[in-house]
Amino acid sequence: MVMPIVQAGEPVLRVVARDLSRDEIRSREIKSLIDEMRETMRAAPGVGLAAPQIGQSIRLVVIEDPASKTGMTDEQLRERGRVPVPFHVLINPQLGFDSDQTVDFYEGCLSVDGFAALTPRHLSVTVHALDHKGKEFSRRATGWYARILQHEIDHLNGMLYIDRMYTRTFSTVQNRAKFWDLPIAEVRERLGIE
Ligand code: ZN
Repeated sequence: MVMPIVQAGEPVLRVVARDLSRDEIRSREIKSLIDEMRETMRAAPGVGLAAPQIGQSIRLVVIEDPASKTGMTDEQLRERGRVPVPFHVLINPQLGFDSDQTVDFYEGCLSVDGFAALTPRHLSVTVHALDHKGKEFSRRATGWYARILQHEIDHLNGMLYIDRMYTRTFSTVQNRAKFWDLPIAEVRERLGIE
């Protein structure tokens, strides 16, 4: 079942979500919640969804990036380091930054519907989490996948991309396509971003 995605202003998006216990992870309720989140993410469409976005204040994220069908050219996919990421679940995730190096791209959020902004993110991260069966795993991620992980795990901590964006770049999706479909260096220069 596709769930409604809550929008900015809903208090659930601004609180720290709680960990799930091993018993909860094995429960029917969480299994069907994961199914609903997968369906909701695909219908949106989006490449990630965090439980607070459907009103559940728990540390659960689903991610899937088909990378194709995004309307991006091969070059745009390449410069973002965007490759297909199969569907997976992260429960109680912990994020580490492999370096201080950051990279800027436009980013949006299903809970800030219709807008986008240039947002810096770490280029490379390591995540430790439990999978849908409660099994521990670790993964190193770079490029767009690293960005998705940072965005979704922020949701579990009551953060939105608008807390990290260059505020002067905030734009409707239409105006971003109309005026700002430019090399990032040019966007920064025109808007006077240091
Ligand atoms: Zn989001």
